[in-house]
Amino acid sequence: MKKTAVITGASRGIGRACAVALARCGFDVLINYRIDSQAAETTASICREYGARAFTFCADVSDEKKVREMFDFAERELGGVGALVNNAGVSSDGLFCDISRAEYERVFDVNVWGQVVCAREAARRMVREQCGKIVNISSMWGIVGASCEVVYSASKAAVIGLTKALAKELAPSGITVNCVAPGVIDTDMNACYDKATMDDLCEQTPLGRLGKAEDVAGAVAFLLGDGGDFITGEVLRVDGGFVI
Ligand code: NAP
Repeated sequence: MKKTAVITGASRGIGRACAVALARCGFDVLINYRIDSQAAETTASICREYGARAFTFCADVSDEKKVREMFDFAERELGGVGALVNNAGVSSDGLFCDISRAEYERVFDVNVWGQVVCAREAARRMVREQCGKIVNISSMWGIVGASCEVVYSASKAAVIGLTKALAKELAPSGITVNCVAPGVIDTDMNACYDKATMDDLCEQTPLGRLGKAEDVAGAVAFLLGDGGDFITGEVLRVDGGFVI
């Protein structure tokens, strides 16, 4: 497998940590972002410090046309797409009774359709090569469900279904598809919560701390490395024991 990877939503947080972890493991990387080009460029600079070739590409993962252009660019500049980290995602909270169609679509467009489109573009290229590895980022809430995050939880449960079905379909082509389900990770995504809520979540985590983006990136790098060669359809929790 070519050591080249597309990482979506890599301008910050878990996506940035994944890009850096992969660069450290010898991957050349394409850093996808939606808004913050400067932040994406910072990710690329860090990756280059580890000797990787690193490119940035602006694309909303729910935009089919842009995503196709992004994978064409990756193929051209990186010389192929060996791995995909389907990381870009948005959160959503609020009472279930207040959910609107627009909010449902906003969340599912990015968290599910975005992963479908990126995985499809990656798979088309990987099938040609008869090898490749895909890791989809879900959430522990996709396993156990979170109160007041019903649509988000449903979208992350869909990611688990997508992973398992795609793993079966792509295995005969030598492609693995796995899923990482993070617990509470200290990134911008949780910046909306007050200290009391974060302390409470920390207390509910048996390992007694919040996760770091690097904790998730380590699991992703493992699955995309040689250690993941015979693992497919797996849901790997990185949650400090929250969901035991
Ligand atoms: P984050 O800090 O909010 O970063 C989200 C990233 O996704 C940003 O780079 C953002 O780029 C990008 N993004 C959002 N919508 C996009 C779109 N439509 N197209 C392309 N890029 C888009 O979040 P994070 O905590 O690192 O989360 C990363 C993934 O882990 C998500 O799938 C999330 O659901 C999952 N997760 C996180 C936690 C946690 O506790 N943090 C727990 C479980 C699962 P822009 O800034 O350009 O929009």
